[in-house]
Amino acid sequence: MSEFDYDLFVIGGGSGGVRAARVAAGEAGAKVALAEDDRYGGTCVIRGCVPKKLMVFASEYAGVVEDAQSYGWDLQQGPFDWPAFRGRLNDELDRLEQVYRNLLKSSGVDTFDARASLSGPHEVTLSTGEIKSAKHILVATGGHPVRPEMPNAHLGIVSDDIFHLESLPKSLLIIGGGYIACEFAGIMNGLGVEVTQYYRGAQILRGFDDEARGLVAEQMREKGINLHLGTNIVDIAPAEADHSMSRAGTGSDAAMGAAAQDQMAAQVSKDAARGPVWVKATNGSEKVFDLVLFATGRNPNSRDIGLEELGVKLGRRGQIEVDDYSQTAVPSIYAIGDVTDRVNLTPVAIREGMAFVETVFHANPTPVDHSLIPSAIFTQPEMGTVGLSEEEARDKEPVEIFCTSFRPMQTAFAGRPDRVLMKLIVSKANRKVLGCHIVAPGAGEMIQLAGIAIKMGATKEDFDRTVAVHPTMSEEIVTMRTPVRTA
Ligand code: NDP
Repeated sequence: MSEFDYDLFVIGGGSGGVRAARVAAGEAGAKVALAEDDRYGGTCVIRGCVPKKLMVFASEYAGVVEDAQSYGWDLQQGPFDWPAFRGRLNDELDRLEQVYRNLLKSSGVDTFDARASLSGPHEVTLSTGEIKSAKHILVATGGHPVRPEMPNAHLGIVSDDIFHLESLPKSLLIIGGGYIACEFAGIMNGLGVEVTQYYRGAQILRGFDDEARGLVAEQMREKGINLHLGTNIVDIAPAEADHSMSRAGTGSDAAMGAAAQDQMAAQVSKDAARGPVWVKATNGSEKVFDLVLFATGRNPNSRDIGLEELGVKLGRRGQIEVDDYSQTAVPSIYAIGDVTDRVNLTPVAIREGMAFVETVFHANPTPVDHSLIPSAIFTQPEMGTVGLSEEEARDKEPVEIFCTSFRPMQTAFAGRPDRVLMKLIVSKANRKVLGCHIVAPGAGEMIQLAGIAIKMGATKEDFDRTVAVHPTMSEEIVTMRTPVRTA
């Protein structure tokens, strides 16, 4: 008989936590519990990847009707019914949440709909007052969106709030140039909202291949997004108020600090979408928008759950510091997913959860391989990417660049100016493909498959001897013969 209530207590019912819990219970036969204080499924299912992708689909139908007309169909564009879509979206999320609950139940995991914090290296205290002991504790609490620290920042919403809007705004200002900012710029633009985007840097999607992100930016503008680079927000106030009063106003979010801001988040979510806001930008412009979305990054959910008190080390942004096996400075406590801020993607959190179970419950120490992770940004057009950007690669070794950009058949026929891009970065020394970048409709689907070849160590010659699939956009990936440059 174990001295503990459980072999494993998982805090957080998102993708990583749920996978670890059910594999530990189901396959490894461990006695497992999981606590979740919000909805099961976490960021990905409830307020991230899944509803976002459904919104991408919704937003793309406007273009489909126009294209269909060019192909001879007598279709007319009707208005977009946001409440109808949102209702169906909520039904789908309810269904998925139930799937997650059922998966845990059928694996024999005990679930607690409560907030959990750590009260000892082997002890968890629930908001219900219950105390549970466990041989191992896995923290999989994810992250949350953050606003910049500036007065009146609460007047803007964050990505969590988008899915609950009562109605779509007529005009929207998005602050940021990362994944979330660029994806929602495309979504809202497609749904008929006038979208303006301010990004403080020289080009959106910092860290990705320059040529690829350049094309995404160009195409976003082409589709009607009012993208301003090198521009940031300096002031925000209710549109109808005296702005000078607001600026000098009573509640300074900057003074409040990040932790207090986080606590306010739920309250703010309800209030944020109230009315138009006045915004002043670094370029001196002053404009009124129906809604402002801060897509200015996410922070780990690591505060106020007893971690530091126990000696678990947190990094500068609050991320839990772990070793290659997801173990923290306290041997019985592990952490996976966004709360560790390694690579913040759902499939990575799932991998980390599986590796944790393999390490701890099958006595087979398994580090997580964070190299060559393919990923997609669901901008319009999408970007799919794996491996090194041209800029990263040429800093490491001499490379050849193969790249082509063209108007794809389907939209060119419909008279659209859309362009796509296919790009390979190849090592001069050993001919291995070091990076692949695709900007095109369906790039996410394409990069998954290119990712297999590149993970296997494919050379440019392996790509070359693969016969093209014709006529497709992706055939260009195996037909680029001459490098456009060497670097
Ligand atoms: P990102 O870190 O990708 O982007 C944050 C953006 O906000 C950057 O452009 C950053 O600028 C800007 N920013 C930060 N602080 C400020 C500020 N004070 N004022 C103005 N701008 C600011 O975060 P996201 O929230 O977009 O996404 C978080 C993570 O979620 C991603 O990194 C990704 O891992 C994951 N994700 C993945 C998706 C996918 O796989 N398709 C989709 C959505 C999210 P700067 O570049 O100058 O720092």
